[in-house]
Amino acid sequence: MFRVLVTDEVDQEGVALLAAEPLLQVDEMPTLPKDDLLARIGEYDAIVGRSATRISGDLLKAGARLKVVGRAGVGIDNIALDVATSLGIAVINAPAGNTVAVAELFFGAVIGLLRQIPRAADVMRHGRWDRASFMGRELKGKVLGIVGLGRIGSEVALRAHAFGMSVVAYDPYIADERFTALRVRRAPSLDALLAETNVLTLHVPLTEETQGMIGKRELGRLPSRSVVVNMARGGIVDETALLAALDADQLRGAVLDVYSAEPLATDSPLRSVPNLLLTPHLGANTVEAQRNVSRDVCLAVRDALLRNDLSKSINVAGGAGEWGELQPAMLVARRAAAVARAVLADQGMRAVRKLALRVSPDLAHGTGALLAAAAAGVLEGVIETDRLNLINARALAEARGIELSVGESSELGARALEVALAGGMQQLAVMGTAPDGGTPRLTQIGSFHIDVNPRQTLLILTNLDVPGVIGRVGTLLGEQRVNIAEYHQARLAQGGDALAAISVDGAVSEETRRALLDLPDVLSASVVHFRSE
Ligand code: NAD
Repeated sequence: MFRVLVTDEVDQEGVALLAAEPLLQVDEMPTLPKDDLLARIGEYDAIVGRSATRISGDLLKAGARLKVVGRAGVGIDNIALDVATSLGIAVINAPAGNTVAVAELFFGAVIGLLRQIPRAADVMRHGRWDRASFMGRELKGKVLGIVGLGRIGSEVALRAHAFGMSVVAYDPYIADERFTALRVRRAPSLDALLAETNVLTLHVPLTEETQGMIGKRELGRLPSRSVVVNMARGGIVDETALLAALDADQLRGAVLDVYSAEPLATDSPLRSVPNLLLTPHLGANTVEAQRNVSRDVCLAVRDALLRNDLSKSINVAGGAGEWGELQPAMLVARRAAAVARAVLADQGMRAVRKLALRVSPDLAHGTGALLAAAAAGVLEGVIETDRLNLINARALAEARGIELSVGESSELGARALEVALAGGMQQLAVMGTAPDGGTPRLTQIGSFHIDVNPRQTLLILTNLDVPGVIGRVGTLLGEQRVNIAEYHQARLAQGGDALAAISVDGAVSEETRRALLDLPDVLSASVVHFRSE
């Protein structure tokens, strides 16, 4: 018998699925004060909640029987993921299910802004009848510019056609076929999209690339009197720059559902701008979305407890059965794919079309899991990672137009694999090995033989094989306080091109990468920050 604590008013449909299992005892409680929860958590095998309950490191440590934490929703900011992983507690969220809710809120809010519905309703409530102040604008014929054509961006695009909008999108990580299927024009760059957009909307994850993506410069590129909408994550649109553009009457208006600090401060200057429509992170707040995420997470928690199926956990916790034995090889597959994607992206090839995995015969029993891990490696850093897991990675990759294939090869050596990515005219293969009981290693990038443990951050440099380069790179990294764990230099022929794979502790900033590129004889520099599993 497993005991499950369900809190934060998770939708009943999911709770009923758990309660129907004879081997699960379900206790439902309202959101508990921190100390109450801390006192009780030791009795439970699983806890399922929403964002109101903070699953802190202390709480996880007090949960001596705890095996699974379920989050009915997407964001896992309230869960101490690293602690859960180190304790072997699976964390499961509900990645899809609220896509339509966000897309519908988008149209509600934009029309609300353009027709001034909230203000008109307020005037009526105050007993007045004023039509003259409320001349609105229509969506028909306007250009909708979508940044990020993933799940939500696609749903927005589909609905925009019904409003007679012209739809253009910028998403360098999506293949042309998806644009065609959605009848969306592809903008070659963010600047090109901005130049023709009347309604700009962001549907990208918050990553190093998208943080502050829409600032003063970008807002200045929009045609005058455009509308800006951010329902993705706070910090993607620079709030200070947005305020200034609204103040200067450069924009017709804006809609925000997400903020760089939530909840938004009571005295935030954003609250007093008349043509800025604010909602308190309501994107996923519909009965239907809550039901979907509750059902998804409860089924996954049930399977984790009763069937030892941890495949939907986002931290790939545990060491259960097949997943445990394959974990080192899965790590190599995921990281090899992440390296290949990053290097190709830095060469200008960002829309991956093919992922081909080859594994040695002793790994052939795990091709499904290994292919999922490689697909996850290609997608991380490009799509919302708290929505990515080993179960959905393959489907997500295929939905994005990436052709996946897997084969066996006896030429690779023991417990070895190769991930080859291709797109356009370019391709790159990265190989690695996960020896029994040994450390996972990457062994080849393209034609270069290397030997490096892909941990935390990997820097990949190509340079001319001339004396002095290693010294200059080492000095620069030292000056930037980047600690080198391993430095592997490889070359094809003396005096030709060389490649360095440098494993470092902690993060490497964009500034450091640019400084490396400026060094004499360095030809390219890619940085891969591996997601902690
Ligand atoms: P998704 O992962 O399906 O799609 C994200 C898309 O962004 C991908 O197609 C990716 O290729 C693209 N992308 C990544 N980096 C890019 C870049 N630098 N330039 C252009 N495109 C880039 O995610 P989703 O499910 O559609 O969610 C989109 C956003 O909405 C996320 O930030 C998510 O957190 C947020 N969200 C908000 C709410 C809310 O309540 N307001 C609810 C759900 C999701």
